Amino acid sequence: MSEDPAQQYRPVKNTEGVCTVCDEAHPLTNRHSQPAVTNRHGVTHKRFLLRVHGPRNNRCPGSHTEPKPWLEASGLPAWDAMTDLDRGAALMHVHKRRREGASYAREHYPVRYSDHPLLIILVAEDIRTACRHAAIVAGNVADGLTDDEYGRLYDLALDYKPGKPISKES
Ligand SMILES: [Zn+2]
Repeated sequence: MSEDPAQQYRPVKNTEGVCTVCDEAHPLTNRHSQPAVTNRHGVTHKRFLLRVHGPRNNRCPGSHTEPKPWLEASGLPAWDAMTDLDRGAALMHVHKRRREGASYAREHYPVRYSDHPLLIILVAEDIRTACRHAAIVAGNVADGLTDDEYGRLYDLALDYKPGKPISKES
């Protein structure tokens, strides 16, 4: 693993969130018991909030607030920190998810990361989380890419064979 503390991977379960105040993982409330709120896009929804936590006489101020976004909390690389080859791999997986559904894509077309050391470990040890990562990072940017850029990244990953030298980075 990297020595850079910003690149330490921390698994975060679906049922938990990491507190922005104490930086610890805590269970989330049942959002259906929360009052509905309207976000800045005008969409009304129910939020996942952190359960009350911390010692009884000194509760963490992060209780009942929204947790850190999963990508940030997990320490996994964001789009900007990924190589073009890994970006292309994420786009390929998201393309399959949109056409075939998440579970089918995960089973038959799991993401194949090849460059970032944390992502390579994740693919080998926890493919489900690797696919979740791809869906989040590429899902956020896929619609904003130009057709040329999308095609370039996609083809880079499509043509890549492990062990085959490629020219990396732009
Ligand atoms: Zn806290």
